Amino acid sequence: MRRERISEDIHIFTSELYAHVTATVIFTDEGAIVVDTLPFPAESREMAEFVRAHSPRGVRFVINTHFHADHVYGNYLFRDAAIIAHRQCRQKLLEIGEESLKAAKAETPGLEEVELVLPTIVFDHEMGLRLGHRLLRLIHLPGHTEDGIGVLVEGDRILIAGDAVMPLPYFAWGDRLQLRHSLQRVREMNLESIIQGHGDVLLRGEIPEVLDRHIHYLDCIRDYVAEVVSQGKPRSVLKSSLPEECGESSIPLDGLVRQLHYANLLRLYEDMTDQRSIEAILASA
Ligand SMILES: [Zn+2]
Repeated sequence: MRRERISEDIHIFTSELYAHVTATVIFTDEGAIVVDTLPFPAESREMAEFVRAHSPRGVRFVINTHFHADHVYGNYLFRDAAIIAHRQCRQKLLEIGEESLKAAKAETPGLEEVELVLPTIVFDHEMGLRLGHRLLRLIHLPGHTEDGIGVLVEGDRILIAGDAVMPLPYFAWGDRLQLRHSLQRVREMNLESIIQGHGDVLLRGEIPEVLDRHIHYLDCIRDYVAEVVSQGKPRSVLKSSLPEECGESSIPLDGLVRQLHYANLLRLYEDMTDQRSIEAILASA
């Protein structure tokens, strides 16, 4: 696992076991705040030990940016902390959490000791959180999933974005337009840096360009799939498409983005063929 320090009191942990997923720790005199908890105990435990060694008052809050396993499975290592998330995050985990964890344990070695621990403090749109010298603003940023939130560190203008910002916008389980809207919103926040849910930190100078590229990508793949559908082509043609055709790169996250891209296209194809007319999709731009 990689650890880096982004400011005096903020450390980022990046997994080397799963898709470069990140977790963030904010230290204050009154205790620490952990944002996301990584999927594998080996790494979650390493992070928990680091935080305890450097925070005499322990971990006061854990914030989950959304319900996906790679962001919540480590919750059980922070028993003393209150866990905060969007209302839908708790709901999703209540509905499918235990079943998904059981399936994951059957398939993936290394998860044996994981226990599901649910958020107990939930919100819908926005919430403030003060601890020590830090003031955080938790903001609903749906699209990757319906329950997605970002954590804005006031003062430093750092956004811990969860999967609302990742090397390729990914909405196969969410909603393309919602994600586009969330990216626009992040674009307007005038940020110093963005801690992505997966991959490297984005710095001030590159943020507008990266977000514009992501927004363009979301429009471009919609147009591409609409054309495939209008020409009556089968979904199998989508398989050969590359993120580069819509301005993104295939390289990040060890190439995983190619799969994310394909899943995005399939999702659009299904939406356009099953539920709504292409005209409606195009009109909703
Ligand atoms: Zn996710």
